Amino acid sequence: MKSKGSSASRMGSLSRKHVLGYAAIAAAGFFVGMIAGWWAPFAGRIDNYASDLVMRLEPAPVWTPQSAVVAIDERTLNAKGGMRQIRPILAETLIQLAAAKPRVVALDVLLADPEEPAIDRALEDALRATPNLILPVDLIAQEKGAQWEEPIPRFQSLAVALGHVQLDVNRADGVSRQIPLEKIAQGKRRWALALEAFRVTRGQPIIESPADVQVGSTLIPAPRSEGDRPLRITYVGSGIPTVSALDLEKTVDAHPEILRDRTVFLGVTALGANDRVVNPYGLDIPGVAVHAYAFETMMRERFLVPVSDPAVLAICALLATAAGLTFALTSGWRANIIAALLVILANILPVAFYRGGMILPYFGPASVAWFSVIGAATFQHFFVRRQLLRTESEKSRYQQAMHWAAHEMRTPLTAIQGSSEIMSRYSLPEEKRHQLSEMINSESKRLARMIQNFLDVERLAEGQMEMKREPFSLAEVVETCMSRARPIGERKRIKIFLDGSVEGTLEGDRELMEYAVYNLLTNAVKYSPPETEIHVTATRQGGDLRLSVRDQGIGMDSRELKNIFKKFYRTKRAEASGEVGTGIGLSIVEQIVTHHGGRMEVTSEPEKGSCFTIVLKAGAINLSPNAEIVDRRG
Ligand code: ADP
Repeated sequence: MKSKGSSASRMGSLSRKHVLGYAAIAAAGFFVGMIAGWWAPFAGRIDNYASDLVMRLEPAPVWTPQSAVVAIDERTLNAKGGMRQIRPILAETLIQLAAAKPRVVALDVLLADPEEPAIDRALEDALRATPNLILPVDLIAQEKGAQWEEPIPRFQSLAVALGHVQLDVNRADGVSRQIPLEKIAQGKRRWALALEAFRVTRGQPIIESPADVQVGSTLIPAPRSEGDRPLRITYVGSGIPTVSALDLEKTVDAHPEILRDRTVFLGVTALGANDRVVNPYGLDIPGVAVHAYAFETMMRERFLVPVSDPAVLAICALLATAAGLTFALTSGWRANIIAALLVILANILPVAFYRGGMILPYFGPASVAWFSVIGAATFQHFFVRRQLLRTESEKSRYQQAMHWAAHEMRTPLTAIQGSSEIMSRYSLPEEKRHQLSEMINSESKRLARMIQNFLDVERLAEGQMEMKREPFSLAEVVETCMSRARPIGERKRIKIFLDGSVEGTLEGDRELMEYAVYNLLTNAVKYSPPETEIHVTATRQGGDLRLSVRDQGIGMDSRELKNIFKKFYRTKRAEASGEVGTGIGLSIVEQIVTHHGGRMEVTSEPEKGSCFTIVLKAGAINLSPNAEIVDRRG
């Protein structure tokens, strides 16, 4: 019971170590992933690319666009005299457009300078005929800072609103993902053209707060803290109906519904106008269409807001913890499957967030998941599993040892049983009875010794064994052991010699010391071929007493040497020799010697022999001339 309890507590401390290991790895995965997500130069690009991909993968929404784009495209310009004729073209288009009865017309052509009076008068008439006209303003860089470029007063007075046409194109990849809802210059704030178009379409005022902008019942999340109140555009793959200005008249006749009651964005889309961007679908679109898409974003009320930094941190911490827990609690294919699911989850999280109207950066969480999963898996494979295997093999050795012990114990038991049965059944001559009872006595003592030895291993290992502290003669111990081992050696015609003499009294447990020396001797016999020699030597070196048992046996290589004092360890050579063993003996020997303040030294060479030396400190030995034996058998 005792040994069970202590081994359980060993397991406890072991797993505590592992828990700490997993926690450290999860934390490392978290930090490395976060650092990669935040600081890697390409992380932002990957995040943007991922959010574009998510948008592209989204099934097309069930949504009828509420706007249309009327495009002064290449064809129109070619047919009507090019950009120099833009005002007459605009005037003509607006007149045609008015016939289609749109709800709002937002113009994306700057009218900042006066032109020929006749041309401007014609345009003025057309603008007056346009319902709910919104005119553009733009920012131009000047030495004293950004300046508003506004339509000339005669046009401006005809507009119900002015909206800025600044786009917010990503510098790294040229993709237009958001527009600034507001821009401030010269102390004057302008709302975006799309927002003004939305407000006029809804017929409601704009109510603002630091966190959002409200038009009627629509709350647009666009916090000022992010800058110019950026609004993520939720592009729709299906696009917005676009009519070429050249075909406008025909379209108004054939499909009036495309423009009637719609909010129309009118702009120049020809490549030469230099107003084109790339959308997240990878398509090249004109700037005027970006305003229309931003407008549709508000109409659909399909808003996207970035997940806050603390929330991203929390998600990453959760992923790292889950990876650590996975490998701490499971192993094998189950752990691998859960880990794979975790990595997949980290990869598809942005999709789930997108559906919920949030933009989760991709790179940070994904790298946290990868780093912590790989870290935890490596830790499990190289540390935890190895230790587990070691424990398992120790366990199986222990079981083998138990079997062997049970088997060995049966021999004296059978002898005792047999003898006692004979004694009880038959009337035997006194001499025979005496013989049998002697046998019973010695065999039961042997049995008791065996059991004791077995128990001692564990108790010694746990430091629970009480060791006697009394002086005894080392010479006597050596003599007793040698005389007990000699008959065993004789079976293999192995001779055991004592070279020189042994001196000194030792303070300690004589029985245990006997066990140690006897064990070394029987091992030497066991692992030596017949007709070899074993030499026992006692020498003094620098005050230490060295008691060596040298054989000419099978020996060991250096790798095996490192392990022989481990409990249940046996060398391959020993296994192959056919000698039965448990691998316990030497571990007890070492413990006994250690308990006596000494240490074990071994030298060995395969096929040549081994030398096991008990080194005892001088202080523990009390040298006295009485305690000396000289081997008389040579
Ligand atoms: P056992 O002899 O029961 O296997 P021990 O703990 O006494 O267990 O020894 C452990 C192992 O050390 C042995 O199995 C054997 O491989 C090796 N060993 C011990 N003594 C010798 C020796 N004198 N020569 C060669 N190998 C030895």
